[in-house]
Amino acid sequence: MTTLTNWSGNYAYRAPRIHRPDSVEQLQEIVAGARRAKALGSRHCFNDIADTPGELIDMTAIPDDLQVDDAAGTVAVNAGINYGRLAVALQERARALPNLASLPHISVAGAVATGTHGSGVRNQGLGAAISAIELVRGDGELVRLSRGDEAFAGAVVSLGALGIFTKVTLNVEPTFDVRQDVFEDLPWAELEANVEAILSSAYSVSLFTNYLASTVAQVWCKSRTDAGASIVFDGAGRVNPSLFGATPATIPRHPLPGLTGDVCTGQLGVTGPWYDRLPHFQLVFTPSNGEELQTEYLVPRERALEVIGILRGMAPRIAPLLQVSEIRTIAADDLWLSPAYHRDSVAFHFTWVRDQPAVTELLHELETAIADCGPRPHWGKLFAADASGLETVYDRLRDFRRLAETLDPQGVFRNDYLDRYVFAG
Ligand SMILES: Cc1cc2nc3c(=O)[nH]c(=O)nc-3n(C[C@H](O)[C@H](O)[C@H](O)COP(=O)(O)OP(=O)(O)OC[C@H]3O[C@@H](n4cnc5c(N)ncnc54)[C@H](O)[C@@H]3O)c2cc1C
Repeated sequence: MTTLTNWSGNYAYRAPRIHRPDSVEQLQEIVAGARRAKALGSRHCFNDIADTPGELIDMTAIPDDLQVDDAAGTVAVNAGINYGRLAVALQERARALPNLASLPHISVAGAVATGTHGSGVRNQGLGAAISAIELVRGDGELVRLSRGDEAFAGAVVSLGALGIFTKVTLNVEPTFDVRQDVFEDLPWAELEANVEAILSSAYSVSLFTNYLASTVAQVWCKSRTDAGASIVFDGAGRVNPSLFGATPATIPRHPLPGLTGDVCTGQLGVTGPWYDRLPHFQLVFTPSNGEELQTEYLVPRERALEVIGILRGMAPRIAPLLQVSEIRTIAADDLWLSPAYHRDSVAFHFTWVRDQPAVTELLHELETAIADCGPRPHWGKLFAADASGLETVYDRLRDFRRLAETLDPQGVFRNDYLDRYVFAG
């Protein structure tokens, strides 16, 4: 038994053995000899998705081996790399990824396997930037899948069920700069009247609220400077003194009340490289505060105000367990298990206090309350739905089950999580 826990500390892996291969060949050998195996990324999930009753394989010791292909506009890299290291290496080559999640510490493979995303009405989830994957199958063989291959759209957001990604190829673009402006105290009435304009007021927008207060506490606007002036700032770069009634913060802010903004990426309109503005937290600092649980649901973007209304109605019930909630947007993609599959989406993220029994009870109520809006839970966070509930919102879950049975016929990568949510239907 290992004594390893996830980042939050709310889950202790039960795997009897942990391996740390430093080459793909070593990894293949371990998998070929295993009855059950699972890859471990940076351990930022809040549930048992990365656990196994067999060989738990930490992928972080395999060297990054980054290769930029300028002609193709791609970078190929070993899959255990985290976004922070990848971003710095890309910036040195004047390249960028289109978007990042709120923290750069997560592994690329673990993030895309769970449908991780950032924000932006035109920005898809992180998996959409993947153009090819190499993976070790249950028999230890290496397979390559590229965009256009039949199984590819099912294989990116794959919950670790199909095999262990060794190499991923990502689409890159020329580097770009971003400025970040935080606005405070957005009146709810303004949000209700201008929701589309507010959510699309910058390249990436996040709203932070507890649903109880009389205003939305913070609006984080991340604007590409190559896109020119906008409703966030004017032609001379001056911040708009009022974004639909919200006013610019005068000091750096942290999304969690009472914490210092110094650990967050640069604000107050100061321009910086994409990788140092698109996440909320700087790579050099420990992200968020660790003492937390997380949940997130994606619903079609046109249902945003309906869900906000329901959550505001439940605010007295939600607020005692909530540290903060983030509302952001994700553009539709074609990855089967992506929470934004074929739906332009708005995501409702919750950072909870670490009282798991109370949070679990609340999640049942919350999911019942928003059920009509088709909420797709984030695979890596806490949720209450069971396999049949997931099948009603994840249109391709059955297809994915068949794909997993074909690519992993011996069930080497199965675990309790997959048995509960994917194979129980
Ligand atoms: C502070 C914090 C902030 C977060 N912010 C965001 C956010 O902004 N947006 C968002 O969408 N999510 C966010 N998350 C959730 C996080 O992105 C996901 O949980 C993500 O899966 C974490 O990646 P990981 O490498 O830690 O995965 P792990 O927990 O290590 O693994 C997750 C899954 O990926 C699989 N996996 C890992 N490596 C491989 C591999 N090489 N091949 C195949 N499968 C693999 C594992 O087997 C497992 O099934 C946040 C989490 C935290 C703790």
